[in-house]
Amino acid sequence: REETIGLVDTAKEMIATAQKHLVQPWPTAGDIGAEARGGMVSGDGIYVTDSEGRRLIDGPAGMWCVNAGHRRKELADVLHEQAMALSYNSPWYTMNQPSVTLSQRLADYAPGDLDHVFYTTGGSSAVETALRFMQFANNVKGRPDKKMIISRQGGYHGSTYLSASLNGRPRDHDWMDSASEQVIKLSCPNPFRRPEGMSEQVFCDFLVAEFRTVIEKTGKERIGAFIAEPVMASGGVIIPPQGYLPRMRALCADNDILFIADEVVTAFGRLGHVFASQDVFGITPDMITFAKGVTSGYFPLGGVMISSRLFEDLRRSNHSDAMFAHGLTYSSHPIGCAVALKNLDILEDGLLDHARAISGYFQASLKTLEDLPLVGEVRGLGLMACIECVADRISNNPLTLDLTVGKRIDGHCQDLGLLVRPLINMCVMSPPLTITPSQIDEMVSILRTSIERTQDELVREGLWNGNSLSGSSI
Ligand code: PLP
Repeated sequence: REETIGLVDTAKEMIATAQKHLVQPWPTAGDIGAEARGGMVSGDGIYVTDSEGRRLIDGPAGMWCVNAGHRRKELADVLHEQAMALSYNSPWYTMNQPSVTLSQRLADYAPGDLDHVFYTTGGSSAVETALRFMQFANNVKGRPDKKMIISRQGGYHGSTYLSASLNGRPRDHDWMDSASEQVIKLSCPNPFRRPEGMSEQVFCDFLVAEFRTVIEKTGKERIGAFIAEPVMASGGVIIPPQGYLPRMRALCADNDILFIADEVVTAFGRLGHVFASQDVFGITPDMITFAKGVTSGYFPLGGVMISSRLFEDLRRSNHSDAMFAHGLTYSSHPIGCAVALKNLDILEDGLLDHARAISGYFQASLKTLEDLPLVGEVRGLGLMACIECVADRISNNPLTLDLTVGKRIDGHCQDLGLLVRPLINMCVMSPPLTITPSQIDEMVSILRTSIERTQDELVREGLWNGNSLSGSSI
């Protein structure tokens, strides 16, 4: 008991200090600078322990990133060893072996001629790098007007100015400025929210036609790139209709528009492969951005895989002195790259196989939650999934924002030993790839109880009539 009291005191102190000094991502004006979130102190495998001593399944693997699981000694050792060997070198005028070796291994995995990699510090800087490279390439090629970027409603690409300008989720732009004049947003390819009565195939035709119309209206000479997450992650694990990605890719190729696959979430095993673009969706993009799972979150690292053809174009141009004036102090960080190499070893030594083998059970188990009246759809691919709650299955209306159903479910889950990632009316799951069948059972059982508790609560508070089973044809 003394131990618990000690922990609670530590947690209280952590909260008090955070409320005075720490600013965390995505705060609201109402409590900015005075907020504290759940303190975490340790992790092991798929579990984390919070500052009050509660052990929780890490449902979202941090932020879709702890793919190899917590507390991997091999990763910790390599961090230490690389720091003792060479902790840092400037990428401006030197290079290091881990980044060179990693480049070759990543090029081997990347589809087509995506043989080159530019390392960054994370996903936003990877997206920013890809976009700045597109702008640079078009300037060098003498077509400075070909710069517009096409993104999609529901997408998420980062929190730096240009990457954030591409975001299309509710609330992303309500109070924030953006480079909106450089961006056109297409419809979200979410089959669950397609117009009523429209088949998935017709929905796909509609999405492709919409892109074609945008190209015709804007002019292909003004559009530089199309960027897409193969599976939209933070938008609610949205898997596009069959054939959508290859058709969008073909439209890009036909109109000399670069296709950037934002694989910040989908790479490094989340969908069972190192990169998902070709292995899962059959497309070869012009650039692939990655981050997160590349080091399983043990070190901040990201990057962009870039097609050789794009570099050859530049080398053939008349401007051999034109400089891609872009770089980060921590590009090609030796510790990050060394960790990424070890992480790739882990993926190759059975973790990719495991992720592919377990994903069917993971998806099928979560799907059983669809019998709960509040659950509109459970969808997913590989080891990413989303439970979307809808109060009325006939209308598909999401619950109004202020009901924050996701948060309520998360609260109950935490009481029972599971962290989920609440997103308005959705709960997103992307556990460490090491998860076992019995751990999946544990997770799904906690989710079931938590959703049931939330349903009871909503009915008790008069927010929902609980009567949504009719029309369950979704
Ligand atoms: N792209 C995608 C698809 C993401 O999900 C994220 C982050 O969640 C980013 C880019 C931004 O990455 P970071 O937060 O590492 O800057």
